[in-house]
Amino acid sequence: MGFKSKARKHRKDSGEDEKKSSSKVKEGTEPCSINDCDNWADKSMGGRSLSIENAEDVWGSNFTIRKGRVRVCKSCYKKWKKHSKDDSNHY
Ligand SMILES: [Zn+2]
Repeated sequence: MGFKSKARKHRKDSGEDEKKSSSKVKEGTEPCSINDCDNWADKSMGGRSLSIENAEDVWGSNFTIRKGRVRVCKSCYKKWKKHSKDDSNHY
């Protein structure tokens, strides 16, 4: 008992080099829907999804609609929030 699970722990060497070279660039899976924005809109990176109407208020039609929603990165969300003059300025 216990032998098999112990052996697994030793298989962690591969991938270390990869981690080093790409540590600067944070890769996400969800690109920001705003056309001239290169950030990631992943939830883990502060991304949000806005309704199409909300996005139109700020970016006109300069965004891509995905599944009826507009995924935006953290900074785009901040921009939208500022624009919409929501007085919920909590941080
Ligand atoms: Zn963005």
